Amino acid sequence: MSDLNAVFKPDAARYGRTLTEMIRCATVSFDGFRDEQTFVDYMNYLQKRFPLIFSQCEDLRVEGCIFLKWKGNSSEDSLVLMSHSDVVPADGDWKYPPFDGVLAEGKIWGRGAVDTKSSFCAILEAVESLLAEQFVPERDVYILSSFSEEIAGDGAPNAVQWMKDNGVSVGLVVDEGGAVLESPLPMLKKDLLAIGISERSSVRFLIEAKAGKGKNALTNLSQFVTKKAPSLGKQQLTPELRELLKRVAPFLPAPADKMISNIDRFEKPLIALLSKLLPGFKAMFGPCVSFVPASSKVTADVKAGIAPAVAVVSCNQCDDLEKAVRLFKEYAEKNDIAVKELSRRVADGIEPPDGEGFQKTEKIANKVYGELIAVPYPIVGNTDARHFVGFAKNCIRLSPVRMTLAQIGTFHNKDENVNFDALVPAVLFYREMIKDL
Ligand SMILES: [Zn+2]
Repeated sequence: MSDLNAVFKPDAARYGRTLTEMIRCATVSFDGFRDEQTFVDYMNYLQKRFPLIFSQCEDLRVEGCIFLKWKGNSSEDSLVLMSHSDVVPADGDWKYPPFDGVLAEGKIWGRGAVDTKSSFCAILEAVESLLAEQFVPERDVYILSSFSEEIAGDGAPNAVQWMKDNGVSVGLVVDEGGAVLESPLPMLKKDLLAIGISERSSVRFLIEAKAGKGKNALTNLSQFVTKKAPSLGKQQLTPELRELLKRVAPFLPAPADKMISNIDRFEKPLIALLSKLLPGFKAMFGPCVSFVPASSKVTADVKAGIAPAVAVVSCNQCDDLEKAVRLFKEYAEKNDIAVKELSRRVADGIEPPDGEGFQKTEKIANKVYGELIAVPYPIVGNTDARHFVGFAKNCIRLSPVRMTLAQIGTFHNKDENVNFDALVPAVLFYREMIKDL
């Protein structure tokens, strides 16, 4: 860690308090369920907590998000700092209540701690502190936080539309996605700066099981969704993953380094090894299907005797989406499951890992955290950054918050938490990003 961290240590308590208060506003987004009052309370809290931001930045008054402009010396290649404000529901049995914002065991616990109130807290603290120093950025800085990212809502698309309508020039966008990852492997002695450079394509299906074969519809549905689905396409090391491995190789002992330098020959064993070491990331290697409960909007017209769910077939940009969809439909049909396509999202655009945006992010992160191994990777889900692809010059998916792999695993899961001392460097990252424009 750099000396800068010591200077900002006294502010750690303030940052921690801010994040716990943000978590206490249960800004849950879920189809068919939304308590608007929680968003009102959340905004009231932020306005009180960040008086300089809300009095000195221009509120662009775009529907469905917080969208503010901090005027800089130039309007060319503005910087957009993003992180959504809504969270997914908190089901299951949590160690600490998910909306109490508990500080315990050196960690801040609660829904949104990872995804993504920690990075939004850090963005706001960074900007507020610079405003207090009367700092003026070289370029315009936009702060954007959607209220409906988790349900693919309108907040971010509205903001992008506003920017297009108003002729805004956007240089770099930094949204959620990757993280500063504490070394995930015992043999790797350095931390990783995992920067998301691409997203997956996905097709959502409403699937319906009927009663039959002596079983009710619900039993048939649960049997289908818990069964191991057949392969929906080839498992492969995508170009993003190949680049990741190439960058990690020099820090790995033999024979891993040799295997990576002969990647074509060792592709299969490398996939097997990585799937074993990082079980949560299996989906990175090819097409797959996951299931989620059908929302009330989707199920509104479902008659009795039919059990619905939503299936999401997703794949990397280099995979064959059509083939994956066809194979999934055949598999569902074989199991007497009716399938109806709900929506389709075809991802495009891969942020170049040797491009300006990536390199700048790497430079700033190294300044704050010391030497990290900066690696590109394909993110498994989607982010609001995708709305900027083709419009902004560079799109980086990174929450500059230091986490373990286990903490990343609490994303959309129970016991979501971040380390209390991860907040200071995250704030510093955004400060340095703004100062470097
Ligand atoms: Zn998120």
